[in-house]
Amino acid sequence: MKIIDKLNEDRIHISFEVFPPKTDAGFAKVREATDQIAKLNPSYISVTYGAGGGTSRNTAKIAAHIKEELGMESLAHLTCASSTKDEVRTVIENLKQLGIENILALRGDIPAGMTFPDENRFHYAYELVEEIRKHGDFCIGAACYPEGHVENEHKEDDIKFLKQKVDSGVDFLTTQMFFDNDIHYNFLYRIREAGITVPVLPGIMPITGAAQMKRSQELSGTVFPRRFLALLDRFGNHPEAMMQAGIAYATDQIIDLLANGVKNIHIYSMNKPEVAAKIMNNLSEIVKC
Ligand SMILES: Cc1cc2nc3c(=O)[nH]c(=O)nc-3n(C[C@H](O)[C@H](O)[C@H](O)COP(=O)(O)OP(=O)(O)OC[C@H]3O[C@@H](n4cnc5c(N)ncnc54)[C@H](O)[C@@H]3O)c2cc1C
Repeated sequence: MKIIDKLNEDRIHISFEVFPPKTDAGFAKVREATDQIAKLNPSYISVTYGAGGGTSRNTAKIAAHIKEELGMESLAHLTCASSTKDEVRTVIENLKQLGIENILALRGDIPAGMTFPDENRFHYAYELVEEIRKHGDFCIGAACYPEGHVENEHKEDDIKFLKQKVDSGVDFLTTQMFFDNDIHYNFLYRIREAGITVPVLPGIMPITGAAQMKRSQELSGTVFPRRFLALLDRFGNHPEAMMQAGIAYATDQIIDLLANGVKNIHIYSMNKPEVAAKIMNNLSEIVKC
């Protein structure tokens, strides 16, 4: 089933994310985490694509496992900056053969030392979206950045390029993580004004440790509000307490989003079924509304 058909329903949808193993040896562990996450009955599970394209085979394998063996929709991420156009075409055809119907089309980060642009590669995600459309009837998602993409200093340009990407054939958007819902509401207002009408899933990252927060900040340059920093300051050295506080913070963000009319939420569950389960438990009655 196409994810966009679910997102258009008049009910709440919660999705989770897993990342594939870097090596085949780690496959069983990731599959076990995926199976546990699937028991929480999310609307779909997305599977990330390793930076550099190295885990492409495992992304497809996990996405196919979710669809075929768990009977659940999967969303396979696909990046294009670190692969040639032909390599990307091969991955799309493989996903098609495996019966994957949903792809999150991404440019990916530009590998250090690579000359870019390069004629043999797609330069931006919108070109990848156009390419995927040529290969079949996929539902295509793409990324967006409520705080702006780190490479683009001009936030209005970022929205102009987002509109170009959506117009090239994107069915829905998922946001980069954020920790202040007002940033998301402001972003939604600006993109709707710019004529972007597709569903937007806020991406919520439960931060359960200080090291994870540091990594997230380095990757996305996201702003951590004072209220979040106070949690980290007080509980950061107590892993169990920090886990509880991080889950409560993410739950609170989700409840506020749902209370303000958001219907679909994506949770960056990072192969942690126990964290995903606690959040779902906190929302057990709310998701029925
Ligand atoms: C929900 C989500 C999931 C992700 N999953 C993965 C993953 O699985 N694997 C992974 O490696 N990374 C992943 N990323 C990270 C992503 O690959 C990086 O943020 C990457 O740097 C940008 O990818 P994009 O698809 O947003 O690029 P694009 O939409 O192509 O944008 C990249 C930059 O180029 C600018 N731009 C776009 N179009 C034009 C144009 N026509 N002219 C000039 N400038 C332009 C944009 O403003 C932006 O600054 C994910 C990000 C998000 C938000």
